[in-house]
Amino acid sequence: MTTAPLPLNAHLVAARPSATYRMIDRVAERRAAGAQIISLSAGEPDFDTPTHVQEAAIAAIRAGHTRYTQVAGLRALREAVAAKFQRENGLPTRWQDTLVCSGGKQVIHNALAATLNPGDEVIVPAPCWVSYPEMVQLCGARPVLLPCAEASGFKLTPQALADAITPRTRWLLLNSPSNPTGAVYSADELRALAEVLLGHPGVLVLSDDIYEHLVFDGAPFATLAQVEPRLAPRTLTMNGVSKAYAMTGWRIGYATGPQWLLEAMEKLQGQQTSGACSISQHAALAALNGPQDFVRQTRQAFERRRDAVVERLNACVGLRCPRPGGAFYAFASCEGLIGRRSAAGRRLLSDEDVALALLDDAQVAVVQGSAFGLGPYLRIAYALDDAALRRACDAIQAFCEGTTA
Ligand code: GLU
Repeated sequence: MTTAPLPLNAHLVAARPSATYRMIDRVAERRAAGAQIISLSAGEPDFDTPTHVQEAAIAAIRAGHTRYTQVAGLRALREAVAAKFQRENGLPTRWQDTLVCSGGKQVIHNALAATLNPGDEVIVPAPCWVSYPEMVQLCGARPVLLPCAEASGFKLTPQALADAITPRTRWLLLNSPSNPTGAVYSADELRALAEVLLGHPGVLVLSDDIYEHLVFDGAPFATLAQVEPRLAPRTLTMNGVSKAYAMTGWRIGYATGPQWLLEAMEKLQGQQTSGACSISQHAALAALNGPQDFVRQTRQAFERRRDAVVERLNACVGLRCPRPGGAFYAFASCEGLIGRRSAAGRRLLSDEDVALALLDDAQVAVVQGSAFGLGPYLRIAYALDDAALRRACDAIQAFCEGTTA
């Protein structure tokens, strides 16, 4: 039965749908119709969840761990999270200083929804993950996107940060390694940003460390609360098992931060979704406390793929791809294709046109950079095996060569 729509929430109406999920859905539709699409669109590792983690989940089901958990997470998992923050990030975390959520997205949503009021501003260095500005907008606050050019490594400079802070600024959202650019902030770069933040005691910082283990070229990972402990009382350091242990579908994210903030987030979660899936929590426990060789092996695989993909993209007419320091994304400029016509006759007037033409004509799915706040670029998630990546690069290259002025 078709009925006329009734009013929706105004903040939701003003928000954009997730561009990453739109491309993921397009891929699913075309595959269902029989097309052979190589998808470089979804930001998720292609590896299977490690066997010992799978076994822990099965054992949890058999042991009857199938009921509600505490809202903030199983005590054992919170202890494992605290131990992880101590061991890997040098943060003096107690289990009481942690919160477990249904994926990293819920950590961010809880934090923003617990703190933002209409008129508040949230500084988001761009390019940024598609969901940050929309989550801010859904809370009735204003995302302030700060463009970070390729020339500055797609990174926020202390001056740009200082210029953007106003009396309405509530949060700075930092993400290193970055989705979509793969940019990695060094400890020195974070220290320079911290210098600015120390002068603004009303500003909270969300440090989204979800790609922590994917830092390449032997570079160390750094996080703000470790680099500048004076900011720890107003920093929410968040992470999750999705990217480190190939567990995107299990939906477990976690965070540490000031007690007052964690309590507010827990209160919100208690009224909205309750604790995260009990079985996934047992799986996350096995991931955090178990052997860590998977993390090293996947980093090596992604580093090798990065090298191969960046080299191939730079050999494509019309593309230019800087070398990312981490995550599993290449962020390639497609400026050289804008204004050209694809072999199938499509005018390429924007990076979205390029992404859609690549999908239709080359059967390769990528996401347009403008969805992340900077165009004309393409985000290319190289989370596929070497052979599939070679085929994808062949198809992208043929597409580029087939374009005409
Ligand atoms: N984080 C991934 C991406 O950027 C998953 C999709 C999403 O949640 O946006 O592709």
